[in-house]
This record gives sequence, structure tokens and C-alpha cells, in this order.
Amino acid sequence: MSDSIQAIRGMNDMLPDESPVWERFEAIVQDWLRRYGYRQIRMPILERTELFVRSIGEVTDIVEKEMYTFTDRLNGDSLTLRPEGTASCVRAALQHNLLYNGPQRLWYAGPMFRHERPQKGRYRQFHQVGVEALGLGGADADAELIVMGARLWRDLGLDRISLEINTLGSSEARLRYRARLVQYLERHIDALDEDARRRMHTNPLRVLDSKNPQMQALIGAAPRLLDDLDEESLQHFENVQRLVRLSGVNFTINPRLVRGLDYYNRTVFEWVTDALGAQGTVCAGGRYDGLIEQIGGKPAPAAGFAMGVERLIALMAGGAMPQPWLDVYVVWSGSQAEAHAWRVAERLRDGGLNVSMHHGGGSFKSQMKRADGSGARFAVIVGDDEAQAEEATLKPLREQREQARVRVTDLMALIKG
Ligand code: ATP
Ligand code: MG
Repeated sequence: MSDSIQAIRGMNDMLPDESPVWERFEAIVQDWLRRYGYRQIRMPILERTELFVRSIGEVTDIVEKEMYTFTDRLNGDSLTLRPEGTASCVRAALQHNLLYNGPQRLWYAGPMFRHERPQKGRYRQFHQVGVEALGLGGADADAELIVMGARLWRDLGLDRISLEINTLGSSEARLRYRARLVQYLERHIDALDEDARRRMHTNPLRVLDSKNPQMQALIGAAPRLLDDLDEESLQHFENVQRLVRLSGVNFTINPRLVRGLDYYNRTVFEWVTDALGAQGTVCAGGRYDGLIEQIGGKPAPAAGFAMGVERLIALMAGGAMPQPWLDVYVVWSGSQAEAHAWRVAERLRDGGLNVSMHHGGGSFKSQMKRADGSGARFAVIVGDDEAQAEEATLKPLREQREQARVRVTDLMALIKG
């Protein structure tokens, strides 16, 4: 086994035992998105590197050190495995002129790639569900995105998820703030870590996003963006809060919340849990009014968010009961029994049941062992006798009920009853 090939570090297989909770998550999410009028879009996993550099920003964790970037051998293009979905979604909407028909409410789901240090809740291939409201500029759009989140946690049966919001204001307000922040950081340069010293002049707001515990006190005492806010952004923020409050959703204002990507302005928010240790942010987003123009479109406002599927699945799996997924395991033996067993299995599938057919023959006893191990609710047993009589034997595997030999036409009713 020593030379067997393993998956790439930080990239996980989803195994069959885990699939029920993933499938339940996906079904609930799709239903929830439809209820808010969102439609699905799927983009390629590979994009031109330029797309992410231009949108996410040069001086961000993602672009500086987390992207899987390589050169296309054939034409020398620089390509990148998508680290997030917003940039691709906006690119696709512009390329296909979707905004021509008015605002677009779009969602996507799939794997994202970031070269981070793998740990619980942080992987190199992970999954996001992203929700983007393109062409909508009002506080009502922001508030709806936030209220949607609260409903999803309810639908998934998750509590212990709380909401933090902040506003980044206009780009002018951020410039004023930036100057004040740099002054503050310069005064405390001895307490800054290496990352912060480098960013102090390239992208000082990002210093507030530092995960370094030693920096937290300094960050806590930094000047607040809230004090530099422009009147319009302040009004916008007030309106978001009013609408969120009237929907009965609680939140706290976190003035240090700046988000790790460059394209945000005005409203930003994160949904966080205390149940997952250090990787507690399960969903994050905000308004990004400048992005569409930055990617080459006609200026248009937009807002959205993305959730980390692995983190939400971890929360769901904590309280999950394994559900029996297989209804029937078909066991057969005898020269005429095979054809009969196949017909019975197909008939049960016609009726909507999940049926696994025993393959490979063997004694009834060994087949029954397999039936038990399959987790099915029933074994359907077919021998030559049953085949001749158009019958089958139904044996309950999970409940104390007698087995019964019945006509094939009555089998379905007996199973469902
Ligand atoms: P963090 O601060 O934890 O690095 P981020 O700001 O980089 O997060 P976003 O780009 O906003 O994260 O992504 C949205 C969500 O996707 C996060 O809140 C998180 O739930 C999830 N996520 C991000 N990176 C990873 C990862 N490497 N592994 C698993 N989930 C992730
Ligand atoms: Mg990150």
C-alpha cells in the first residue's frame, strides 16, 4: 500500500455514508432559493487569472498566495482554478448580456480552490453555494439577502448561527478612513506582524481582517470606519438595519468586519457559529457596486453572499440520524428464479421504491447476510417455487413482523402498508 496514490492534501472525497446529509442539504437549498425567485447558473471551474486579479484584488490573501494558477501549455495563457464564484458569475452575466433584461437573481454551487493550510473546516478544495443579486442597488436587496440566510438556517434545523453586519461606506469614505488607519498603524508599528507591515501601505483595511490572535487587541483599538461614513451610506445602512429588524432577524454591528476581498462597498455581513471552533464563519457577503464595471460591464450595482458547504454540513451532521435509504434487497436462487427476480425488482422500481438486486449468486444464507448488511427495510426472496406461482416472499429486516409469501401484484401494497 505504501506506493498507492492518495488524494491531494486538503482535497476530500465525499464517501457514500456522507452523501445523505449532502443530498438533504442540496435539496433544502434548492427549494429555499426558488422561494426567493433565484435561478441557477453554472460557470466553468477554470477562468483566466486576470479575472480574479482584477476583481478580488491584488493585495488579498486569495490573490497573493491562495490561487492555483498555471500556464496553458498550448498557448501560454495564465489560467486559475476558481477560488470563489462571484467574479465568474458576473463575468458570465456580462458575457451573455443577462442584465439587458433587468436585474438578475442568480445562484450557483460547486467546488472552489484555495491553496491554504488544511485544517478542520478549511480545505484546498471546498464547496460554496453563492447567491448574487445583480443590478439591484437598494437597501432592500441587502436586507433580503440577509433575511434569506436566517430562513435557510431554520430550514436546515440549525441554531447557534448569529449575524454580524457592518458598512464599508463609499470609496471616498474608505479613503478618508484609510488615511486615519495608516496613521494609527504607523504609531503601533512595533506591534504589527509581518503581514500587517507589508499591507499597511498597500491595503491597510486588510490588516483588520487579520486572524493572528496577537493582533486582536491592536485591531480592537483601531479607529472605526463608522466615524468616516458618508451621509448616503449611513442612510443606506440604517435602512438595511430597519428592514432586517422588521423581519425579526437579530444582529450585532461589528465595526471591524471588513471582509477579505477588495470588491465590497457599503453593506458587509457574516453569519458565524461558535460550534465549529476557529473556522466559525459559515456564510459571508455584501454589496459590491463597483465590480461589474471593473470587469468591463456598464456600471450597475450588485450584492451577494457565499456559504461554506463543508462547515454547514458539519453543523448538520452533528445532530443527524442516519436514514435508511434502501427499501428492498432482492435475493434469489434457482434456474427460473433469475428472470422472475429481475422482473420483480423492476416492478418495485416502477412503483418508486429503492431496490438493490443481489449480484453474484451464492447460497440463500450468504445472500441474506448481504441483505441484512445492506441496511434495506425488506428482503424480497425469490426461488423457483415463487417464480412458477408469480409470487415472492417478503421478509421485514428492521421490524418484528412475520415474513409472508404473496402474489407479486400484492407485493407493493404490502411494502408500502
Ligand atoms: P476566512 O476568513 O475563513 O478565510 P474568507 O473570507 O476567505 O474566509 P469567503 O471568501 O468569504 O471566505 O468565502 C465564503 C465562505 O466560504 C466562508 O465564510 C467559509 O464558510 C467558506 N470558506 C472559505 N474558504 C474556505 C476553505 N478554504 N475551506 C472551507 N470553507 C471555506
Ligand atoms: Mg480566506
